[in-house]
Amino acid sequence: MSTPRTRGGRDWTPAYLLSINPELCIGCGRCFKVCGRNVMGLRGLNEDGVLVEDDEDDDEIVKRVMAMEDADACIGCGACARVCPTNCQTHGAA
Ligand code: SF4
Ligand code: SF4
Repeated sequence: MSTPRTRGGRDWTPAYLLSINPELCIGCGRCFKVCGRNVMGLRGLNEDGVLVEDDEDDDEIVKRVMAMEDADACIGCGACARVCPTNCQTHGAA
């Protein structure tokens, strides 16, 4: 794989979104709005702290949180980290 570069040829180290802590996420959607790669999506969490599948009953949902939907699409721009008010995301190398 070639080394990532900016448009001007400068070194660029991507900071990929690796995980989102569902206990800290408040589901505000800020990260979703700034991401141009459809990496994340809002999901329901049940009382056991487990993500609820789309086709399950809404009654189970106690909270909505942002979750990784397509991690492989992330380009590591770091925009989501800059807008998150609870610091609940982890970024790093792929
Ligand atoms: S680092 Fe950039 S591309 Fe990756 S999830 Fe965050 S905003 Fe989207
Ligand atoms: S910006 Fe942070 S708190 Fe808000 S939905 Fe995204 S991960 Fe959750």
